[in-house]
Amino acid sequence: MTTFSDLGLSQKVLSAVTDAGYTIPTPIQAGAIPPALQRRDILGIAQTGTGKTASFVLPMLTLLEKGRARARMPRTLILEPTRELAAQVAENFEKYGKNHKLNIALLIGGVSFDEQDRKLERGADVLIATPGRLLDHCERGKLLMSGVEILVIDEADRMLDMGFIPDIERIAKLIPFTRQTLFFSATMPPEIQKLADRFLQNPERLEVSVRSSTATTVTQRFVATHGKDYEKRQTLRDLIKAQEELKNAIIFCNRKKDVADLFRSLDRHGFSVGALHGDMDQRSRMAMLANFKDGNIKLLVASDVAARGLDIPDVSHVFNFDVPIHAEDYVHRIGRTGRAGRSGAAFTLVTKRDTKFSDAIEKLIDKKVEWLDGDLDSLPPAAESEERERPRKGRGRERDKDRDRDRERDRDRPAASHKTDTRRDDTQGNAKGPDMGNEAVKADRQSENRQNQPVRNQRPANDDVRDRRNNNNRRYRRDDDDGPTPVGFGDDIPAFMLIAGKA
Ligand code: AMP
Repeated sequence: MTTFSDLGLSQKVLSAVTDAGYTIPTPIQAGAIPPALQRRDILGIAQTGTGKTASFVLPMLTLLEKGRARARMPRTLILEPTRELAAQVAENFEKYGKNHKLNIALLIGGVSFDEQDRKLERGADVLIATPGRLLDHCERGKLLMSGVEILVIDEADRMLDMGFIPDIERIAKLIPFTRQTLFFSATMPPEIQKLADRFLQNPERLEVSVRSSTATTVTQRFVATHGKDYEKRQTLRDLIKAQEELKNAIIFCNRKKDVADLFRSLDRHGFSVGALHGDMDQRSRMAMLANFKDGNIKLLVASDVAARGLDIPDVSHVFNFDVPIHAEDYVHRIGRTGRAGRSGAAFTLVTKRDTKFSDAIEKLIDKKVEWLDGDLDSLPPAAESEERERPRKGRGRERDKDRDRDRERDRDRPAASHKTDTRRDDTQGNAKGPDMGNEAVKADRQSENRQNQPVRNQRPANDDVRDRRNNNNRRYRRDDDDGPTPVGFGDDIPAFMLIAGKA
């Protein structure tokens, strides 16, 4: 069996890998590290969860030990589509590079330029960046990339979806042609293949199968439901409550507005829940993620853009509140569970309107997904199912009231005016969930003041997204989600959620 010491990595790197507790390289690591160390270009078809980050970080660290930087110029550049991914890669660099004295600059949007400028002025060996912010630094004349020897383009298909390919082409022109390029993508649509053909010279091609790795450990089920939002939310709540083995879960929505709505609904129903979408500011997103990773929040409602590629080990369940419009997103979503051979469960709510998309998923994964408790034809008529829930005593009646409130809100209120619902008033104090103490309540009240800002003052915080939309040349296809920033989860976030977060 191949071990890390067979791959040609330096002693410093091997010792950090041992300290991290890893002994056996994953297939992408075993395949990519030796040719990368020989300065070959790599085309890696692999998604997160396969160990692909270490497959480029470890050889880069070994190669950085050889040679020296020219006058404070960066020698390596890693491009990531989202800030979280960039931050995650930076963490990996620190973990595996703990025996190296390397300066790492994380160049991402949503944080001030000043600190990044200072890092660049001091000299950075390694740049980890999102494309928009990197170009901003170049345009401000703060960054010369003529010393870059290794370029990593990670999650290339995501870059394509997010409209970053023209940016990447511009960036590639700023880097010497003689560079080594390591290129990773979870899928290989024709546009990505063309890009790889342009960027890579005689690459070593490695493919890590996604299908078999998810199919064997994840139990997948479609769940038939009626299509109104309140009906779907009821189905979801029942489903969550029925899961005896649920440790934590990510719940995916197709649009950020739905992320915010579903979050509020679950929160009101007393679930331990947080939310993550692309318009939240960086600090809030990192804090939310830390809270989820630490187990302070059990359910995380997320959009694809926000959650793509996040390394959240050990998620027991994935719920697709919406069937993803792009079938590849299904594979990415359910790849959040069943990692490293663990078992996981993935449930997808399917309405009659979604059959086109659920069929596309089955075609892509090349197998039928079983229905939980019967398919769409066996659903009781909508009115009947509402009737079923009607007058009940005690908790049942409360649930009906909640559902009615949900329904009214859906019917009567325009999406962008849900502002007050994100706030909790004192009468809701005991609905804050078991984890919330007085401090949390106090922080919550403070946050209300901030949330009372007029809606027009709340701008999308994601610079990368904003830049992308401002630039007509940049493509923007995925997510169909350039609607308004959901109020209360855009520039701001209830303070109680940031408690115990490691921002
Ligand atoms: P990635 O695909 O890079 O996001 O990595 C997914 C997870 O696998 C991360 O939590 C890594 O720390 C972990 N990991 C990376 N390499 C190995 C390995 N050789 N053995 C076990 N776990 C690993």
